[in-house]
Amino acid sequence: MNEENCESQSGFRAIPSIDSILSLNGITNLFDQFPRLLVKEVVKEVVEEMRKEIKEGIKNDILQEEIISIVKRKLNNSRLKRAINGTGVILHTNLGRAILSKKVTSRVVEILSHYSNLEFDLSTGERGKRTSYVESLLRKLTGAEDSYVVNNNAGAVLLMLSALAKGKEVIVSRGELVEIGGSFRVPEVMSQSGASMIEVGTTNKTRLSDYEKAITSNTTALMKVHTSNYRIVGFTEGVPLKDLVDLAHRYNLAVFEDLGSGLLQDYGIPLLKEEPTIIDSIKSGVDVVSFSGDKLLGGPQCGIILGKKEYLEKIKKHPLARALRVDKISLISLEATLEIYFIGDKVLDELPVLRLLTLKVEDLRKRGEIILDRIGENKKRLSLKEGFSTVGGGSLPTSKIPTILLSIELKSGEGVHNLSQTFRESEPPLVGIVEEERFLIDLRTVLSDEDEELVRILKVAL
Ligand SMILES: *Cc1c(COP(=O)(O)O)cnc(C)c1O
Repeated sequence: MNEENCESQSGFRAIPSIDSILSLNGITNLFDQFPRLLVKEVVKEVVEEMRKEIKEGIKNDILQEEIISIVKRKLNNSRLKRAINGTGVILHTNLGRAILSKKVTSRVVEILSHYSNLEFDLSTGERGKRTSYVESLLRKLTGAEDSYVVNNNAGAVLLMLSALAKGKEVIVSRGELVEIGGSFRVPEVMSQSGASMIEVGTTNKTRLSDYEKAITSNTTALMKVHTSNYRIVGFTEGVPLKDLVDLAHRYNLAVFEDLGSGLLQDYGIPLLKEEPTIIDSIKSGVDVVSFSGDKLLGGPQCGIILGKKEYLEKIKKHPLARALRVDKISLISLEATLEIYFIGDKVLDELPVLRLLTLKVEDLRKRGEIILDRIGENKKRLSLKEGFSTVGGGSLPTSKIPTILLSIELKSGEGVHNLSQTFRESEPPLVGIVEEERFLIDLRTVLSDEDEELVRILKVAL
């Protein structure tokens, strides 16, 4: 059978040509928002998929409207855009982790749309260092002697080990061989850096004597990795950082720490008390510590390395330091975020991550009631429920924060996954919690200035 016959028999005639599709109104409207060539490519892809479906007998007719709507959806769903987080996970890695305050983003916009003194010393008129201001902020806030900022914490750990432990042994507890989402694994980073990892202890128990017994003439450091995204509970024992530092320094070794989530201090908030803090690490005498900028620190994606001058100098000279250095967008955001920390207790209101973490249940309930009132007729399907938010982003994995959930009961015959998809594809997208019988929206992570939009989205979808 030749191709032509095949086409007419299986309905290929029903598919309009690519050019005719590209001239349809629904498609030409997209040219304002998306590159024409990209639209064309997506149209081709969609038509190709439809051809296949016809061939396989899944479909026998194709409507122009269907092509337009699939192309639109594909394009709309693929580009980066803001979203409403109804999941209750404050540092949601898939939804962008920490959000920045408007104070921070307005600085970014202002500086990025102009030239700047990124690497220019305004006092001398000579070449300057991009990180000198951020380094002075970090020293003041944390008490560390010196610092360096890179692209993310994975890069920070790699740089720290490459610069300070290549060809040497680093001793780590078997209870701390962490894997972070996106394939960051302590043993693999260690081997990539050229350091040899010496594992000691067991999964649940590691004692100071285990570290001490493993020290050889080739040991250069003891390393502590914060088990940020899991907890080993029950019959457990670990070594406090302070004891590790005392042991290491007795043997003239260094202590490295991958602190992961990067909480500056606990602010007397009970929830945060079980999370190790940057300030405590420095106080304990750690030689080098690294953490993420966009977890509990509440800043942009970056990796921050703090520690003693002698080690930081080596880190800054390593070739990877240049390859991994922080970009200017993150640097501006980090400077502005760190400045917020200097305003004292008000930091809990000004820094979105800490603000969301400490929102009171009574206030969430009040917001929920106002939202329900505004919904109108479809209110019957909605109710407020008590539940728990989580910190997420590999921080405080066992902590649950009481919250208020907006619960949407399903209509008979309605699938929760369809409802969830409708919300995901609303403008802006709303991501919530899917349960068997209902769809839930945690109001803690819905920003208060998004309530209006939430009402609009709910009205349309219900
Ligand atoms: C999150 C985390 C990392 C990775 O940090 P990124 O900034 O995502 O690269 C590494 N180690 C620990 C312990 C972490 O929690």
